[in-house]
Amino acid sequence: MKIMRLMLVICVLGVQSCVTTGPGGEKSFIAISDSQEVEIGKNVDTEVRAKEKILPDSTWQRYLAEVGQKIVKVCDRQEIDYHFAVIESDQINAFATPGGYVYFYSGILNMIDNEAELAAVMAHEISHVVARHSVKSLQASVGLDVLLQLALGEKSQGSWGQVAGLAMNLGMTGYGRSHELEADKFGVFYMQKAGYNPDGARTMFGKLAALTGDKQQGFFESLTSDHPDTQERLAKINAEIAQMPRSVDALPKFEQRYQEMKKRLPPAKK
Ligand code: ZN
Repeated sequence: MKIMRLMLVICVLGVQSCVTTGPGGEKSFIAISDSQEVEIGKNVDTEVRAKEKILPDSTWQRYLAEVGQKIVKVCDRQEIDYHFAVIESDQINAFATPGGYVYFYSGILNMIDNEAELAAVMAHEISHVVARHSVKSLQASVGLDVLLQLALGEKSQGSWGQVAGLAMNLGMTGYGRSHELEADKFGVFYMQKAGYNPDGARTMFGKLAALTGDKQQGFFESLTSDHPDTQERLAKINAEIAQMPRSVDALPKFEQRYQEMKKRLPPAKK
């Protein structure tokens, strides 16, 4: 009777059962509504802020949000609010959690050389939000039953705190090969749509791919030189760019603007 109960729950909650999750009008079955996803995102954000040090530089926080909003404006999921934060840490990582929360570590910002490269990572992360990758992964790992019990305010063997912890972890460690490839593909599309030269994706992913295994971290875990998926990801990004009208080659990278911002970052510890 699980299915019956699930259908009932979906009706009661008015949950969208099939939502657009990509630029090609891709559809996915998502059992969690936007408002529930945003609720998870808020819980995760509280955890992130308790665990990590937010960079105390409002200019940087504002700048990251500006670049983020440029991508949001052209993405296929605009009905939720997005939030952006720079975390002060040498980790070479960035991650998105449910509900439109996106985080960048200063470690990766120190590796970036122009705004188009920043936009490439940003668009990849926002693509995870658009495609509901974290919610899909949560459904798979927490179990739909537990999530729905929580959503209905029923007694449950799970808690929002546990869900938040898991969502944060999933965001930081990546969502697996197919979801990463999907976010790469959507990301390159969104960044050029937002007016950034997609060459920024090629150079940024190339730099990350040149990192060796001991620097393996987070969602770039599958982009390091010794990971079997790396060459495939790079080749697919290059193929996406090659298919675009060549007018994209004239799009800006905003190198000077980024270099000015980079001077404000805490220097990376060697
Ligand atoms: Zn990713």
